[in-house]
Amino acid sequence: MDFEAFLKDLSSFLDKNQILLEKEDVLFYSLDRTKDFEPNGSCIVFPKSTEEVQKIVLLANQYKIPLVPSGGRTGYSGGAVATNQEVIISLSKMNRILEFDATLPAITCEAGVITKHLQEKAKEHHFYFPVDFASSYSSLIGGNIATNAGGIRVIRYGPLRNWVSGIEVVTGKGEVLNFWGKLIKNNTGYDLKQLFIGSEGTLGIITKATLLLTQIPKNTVVFLISCKNFSDVLECLKESKHHIKEILCFEVFDSSCMELVCSKHQLTNPFSNVASDVWYVLIEAEIHQEEEIPYMDFINSIADFSIDVLYSTTESIKKGFFRFREDISEAVAMSGRFHKNDISIPISYMDQFIKNIKDLVNQHYKDYQLFLFGHAGDGNIHVNLLTSYEKDINQFKKEMQEFDLQLYGMIKHYNGSISAEHGIGLLKKPYLLYTRSPEEIEYMKSIKKIFDPNNILNPGKIFDL
Ligand SMILES: Cc1cc2nc3c(=O)[nH]c(=O)nc-3n(C[C@H](O)[C@H](O)[C@H](O)COP(=O)(O)OP(=O)(O)OC[C@H]3O[C@@H](n4cnc5c(N)ncnc54)[C@H](O)[C@@H]3O)c2cc1C
Repeated sequence: MDFEAFLKDLSSFLDKNQILLEKEDVLFYSLDRTKDFEPNGSCIVFPKSTEEVQKIVLLANQYKIPLVPSGGRTGYSGGAVATNQEVIISLSKMNRILEFDATLPAITCEAGVITKHLQEKAKEHHFYFPVDFASSYSSLIGGNIATNAGGIRVIRYGPLRNWVSGIEVVTGKGEVLNFWGKLIKNNTGYDLKQLFIGSEGTLGIITKATLLLTQIPKNTVVFLISCKNFSDVLECLKESKHHIKEILCFEVFDSSCMELVCSKHQLTNPFSNVASDVWYVLIEAEIHQEEEIPYMDFINSIADFSIDVLYSTTESIKKGFFRFREDISEAVAMSGRFHKNDISIPISYMDQFIKNIKDLVNQHYKDYQLFLFGHAGDGNIHVNLLTSYEKDINQFKKEMQEFDLQLYGMIKHYNGSISAEHGIGLLKKPYLLYTRSPEEIEYMKSIKKIFDPNNILNPGKIFDL
């Protein structure tokens, strides 16, 4: 590994401003949103074309230099962190929208386009890119594809995988592969493109993508519902599936989340009847005809399962309802030492699972506050624990490791997943066996060796070879 020779060869085709070596820059680009890792990259390179990405990967193979593909670094699993002198390859300068095709409809773009920009571009063409989440102002399309991102609209539109028509990738070997379909039908053997979606930068670097669009949901109603327990939340979910044709999101959060968001962001709980230990449900649904009270049959059907039901079709009020859910992550993050988990469970087991988590925290983690929220319509719950900054950091880490083991044991018992949306990266690597069988992991390793035989791309992420 001759880093100086590698840099010299890089400089033969990259401009000075495409290579950053300053310590401050390297520290900044070595981290994503996880706080658990020591940043330690060696430099950052900013290719401007697929050809440059290819040349960088070929050189990295020649000199055996590890590369970390980097998007907006909004990931929560340590997938984009550099801890071992890796070269960070940022796609952020490959940010051109290339084409709009009204017949599919779809937009083709480079991997460094910011998610929000793609959503806005779709809107300009009177269409909608339905993958959306609170980090869409900073995350990049390549990172979204590499993590198979989810978000609040999965219940209606599915994860990002459903919206990828084609991708171009540079494999770990340095080949450029075009799974470049605008084809709707293509039954010609294995769909290799799917392997790269959600592969967290371990098989190839995504350089371009064709992303499908859909119609903009026009009129919507947002319900904010309070329920006395999680079992009632599930009854609301069942009834909503029965009565509402187009549910755009079904989100849930507990009373600790509501109280924290209200206190941190100076908001007022909109319910007059505020009991502690209640659950809040946020549902957005499309409406197709003007009714004085939308989905009255749904509201009637949950009379026995809800304490109060608020609803609105007015933009500003709907936005206000959404804030109670969308501001939770930030409110927790600004309140002390916190630990996050993003897990999923078959929906039918969620009530019992949540009781088990509460018992665990009440019995063994008394100086932590539990915040439960997430995409309940997808069985996806964010389990957050918060404690004071006064707690010793090493003690905190030890306790959270123990908590994770207990949590993942429960998840295994219920056939759930230790990572619903955020991926495995470095953070969840030690626990992959809780969700995947040894045979599956062996197959994944074999696939990695085919596309990246020198283990150049994101080595040590998801699993060790
Ligand atoms: C406030 C907040 C809310 C969030 N909400 C959600 C949510 O609701 N749903 C959800 O799914 N996620 C959510 N996330 C997590 C995160 O935003 C997503 O995982 C997002 O898709 C990551 O995109 P990124 O560009 O930031 O990728 P990065 O963090 O830069 O990278 C993520 C992984 O992809 C790899 N990678 C990046 N670019 C490429 C590329 N071009 N080719 C190959 N590999 C690449 C990296 O090596 C890494 O392994 C949230 C994050 C925050 C901060």
